This record gives sequence, C-alpha cells and structure tokens, in this order.
Amino acid sequence: MVIYGWRSSHIKTTENKQVICPHCNNQGGLSNSVYGRYVHIFWIPTIPIGKTGGAVCSHCQKAYKPKEMSEDMKRAYKNTKQESKTPLWHFSGIAIVGLIILFFSISDKIDAQEDLTAIDSPISGDVYKYESDANRYSTLKVVEVDEDSVYFRYNNYDYTQKVGIEEIDVDTCYTQDIYMMSRDELKNMYENGTIYDVSRK
Ligand SMILES: [Zn+2]
Repeated sequence: MVIYGWRSSHIKTTENKQVICPHCNNQGGLSNSVYGRYVHIFWIPTIPIGKTGGAVCSHCQKAYKPKEMSEDMKRAYKNTKQESKTPLWHFSGIAIVGLIILFFSISDKIDAQEDLTAIDSPISGDVYKYESDANRYSTLKVVEVDEDSVYFRYNNYDYTQKVGIEEIDVDTCYTQDIYMMSRDELKNMYENGTIYDVSRK
C-alpha cells in the first residue's frame, strides 16, 4: 500500500514567440511548462517540494530539460517559473491537520466550559469522573443537592485508565450509602484536577 510519495501537477505553460529552437532553428514553437512537485500522504497533497519543468518545440517535438536550454530559453523558462505560484491545494494535508487540531481545541474548550457550569450548579444525576488514587479512576454520582452540599454515591469499581470508564457508570456499581461534600470541596476537586470530567444526561 502506498502511504506516501511524490507527485507533480501542471501549474503553467507559456509560449515563447521570440525564442529560436536550437534543434530545428524555427522561431515561435517553443513553450515552457512548469510543474509543482509535492509530497502526498495517503494521496493527500501535503508539502510542496519545489518546481520542475522544461520546454518543448512544437515544430520538431524536441523536449528540453532546463540544463539543455540555450541562454534565451533559460531566461524565458525562468520567467515562467517565477510566474508559477504553488497551488494552495498542495498544502491540503497541512490544512486538514490544522483544521483537526482547531476542531479538537474548540470542542475541548466547549467541554471544559460545560463542565465548569455543571460544577457550579450541580444537579441530581451528574456523574463525575475522578482520579480515585494514583493512576486509578472512578466515578461519583450525584443523588441530591442542596444549598451548601452535594450528596453522592461512590462507585465500587475503578479503572487503571481514563478510557472506557463509562462502563462502570451503571447503577448497580454504585454504593448504597450516600456521602456528602460541600460545594466548595467539589469545586476544589475540579480545580485541582481530581475531577477531570463531568457528564450530564
Ligand atoms: Zn524545434
């Protein structure tokens, strides 16, 4: 499977009415073409890596690489090359990665804002994901709230990683006993990172 490679795409062709073909001595048949080379990753153009090209004569069909050109031809080719702008789509891969990063940073911010709002005004049914011990993760479930305090059940289970912890967020996993903490304690737990996520259904 091709994961990455190089490709090129045509950018610009110009005709040179003034230049004489050194091969057939006809004037006006030469044209320059410039191609942009780019690295593709999974066929998505990602990084432009310079321009290549050459000239061809429409009279004798001879193709010239830049180093085979006469001085006049080189000058004309250089002009075409300078006028050839690297197409923006040669940067598509970088743009896609940028958009993905942007998307995740925005949704992280929205999530953090929602969590903060939920911590400030907890309601019954909120589930807090928290670090219960060093590298142990578990959940707390709010069952009641009053002006100063939050009442909750502990989870009897924990996880060694954050991923997949939703699986223990099942009613039967929670303690029968109800515990209490002040709203300030709750805020502290969120601010110092012990509680790292809030889910509200
Ligand atoms: Zn020619």
